Amino acid sequence: MEEARKTSCQLSEVDVLNLGSGEAQHENTNQSETKLASTVDEEGNEDSAPDAEELSTSKYSHPVYRELSILNGKINKLNVAQLKSHLRELNLETSGKKSVLQKRLKSHIGQQKLKESGKEDETASHRNLYYDYYLVIDFEATCDEHQNPATYRHEIIEFPAQLVSTKRGQIINHFHSFVRPVINPRLTEFCTNLTGITQDKVNFAPTFPEVLKQFEAWLEERGLTSSETRMTVLTDGSWDMGRFLYQQCSISGLPYPSWGKQWINIRKSFCNFLKTKKMCLRDMLNHLGMKFQGQPHSGLDDSKNIARVAIRLLKDGANLRVNERINIRKDGIYNPRERVVNNINRHNFEGIKKKHRLVGNDKNDNSSPDQSNLGNVSDSEYDDSKHEESEPLWPDIGNVKEFPDLVKTNVMKET
Ligand code: AMP
Ligand code: MG
Repeated sequence: MEEARKTSCQLSEVDVLNLGSGEAQHENTNQSETKLASTVDEEGNEDSAPDAEELSTSKYSHPVYRELSILNGKINKLNVAQLKSHLRELNLETSGKKSVLQKRLKSHIGQQKLKESGKEDETASHRNLYYDYYLVIDFEATCDEHQNPATYRHEIIEFPAQLVSTKRGQIINHFHSFVRPVINPRLTEFCTNLTGITQDKVNFAPTFPEVLKQFEAWLEERGLTSSETRMTVLTDGSWDMGRFLYQQCSISGLPYPSWGKQWINIRKSFCNFLKTKKMCLRDMLNHLGMKFQGQPHSGLDDSKNIARVAIRLLKDGANLRVNERINIRKDGIYNPRERVVNNINRHNFEGIKKKHRLVGNDKNDNSSPDQSNLGNVSDSEYDDSKHEESEPLWPDIGNVKEFPDLVKTNVMKET
């Protein structure tokens, strides 16, 4: 038995879960276990749960599904303390209610086992994720320590985008350009120290309209602007789109681009997902046991790290959805006093899903926690109406809470 256990369950988590001796892992699959196994593949899509006959003949016939079925059954029997202990050993997040912990553990084990068995790709294509791609954007903009009133005219000086394939859980491509500012062509020392962007880098860079054109061509070449492509922008906070892009388009006299009209604010998703309080990028990484890679406030490095958080949440079973959108004035003129970023609540999202033919796990949304056994710990788990308008969507740039990492190093004084 011990030998069989080693070969069929080489993952440490299986050892951790301690499959009992005498348990017929590949023979004793009953109906309910079959259903659990199917959810490994379909992430809660009850419609496609295979029956016993299907199991023996279909894609589910691979022994890994039976194995997972048994493991899922075991996970269902664990109490909160046991769940947390397993999650801790696997270096996974331990916050959340019992159903969330169960899903997280099942999701992780499911993905690991399917990967080992070579079934991952097949499974990935069946994941009911809302989006196939996240486009992670993190702009850097001109700034000055002493000139940060809401009226400060920020211009984008770095335009990075990381293309994340949600199915692969990887960054698969990226766009990057520095941008030459025209209102304040000389960067302040503060700005260079903060972002690492030197005067030379912007002097030799194209202006924003040119960069936007290049970026949109880059999107086009990859089919990312097609209505058939399920892609969304993902940012860390509301500022990239709601402040920097809007303001820059207004300065450049360009219409606000349609790809930036709604997005996933990952900070908000993160807080909903883990039921934690507001945090910054570094907090999110810390929370996940990860470290910032590269230089903070470099747009390229920030975007990579934001992508790492998104990928980690995906691997943790999250199905992120757009949660913010922008209301552009008819004249397109940026008004710093106007609050233009709105929350997209779950109800609004249902409409968006229909319009953009996003699949997602509607069924799972309405099912009891026990029915949705694996993955798709979407933020639908939580009643985000509570979060609506809960954070200042239009913070003053002097609001230190937006930049806690800098406050700690005394770069910016708490007001
Ligand atoms: P981040 O993505 O956090 O690197 O910030 C994006 C942009 O916000 C920077 O390029 C700056 O223009 C502005 N910013 C960030 N932190 C500060 C700060 N402490 N003071 C003034 N502006 C800031
Ligand atoms: Mg940044």
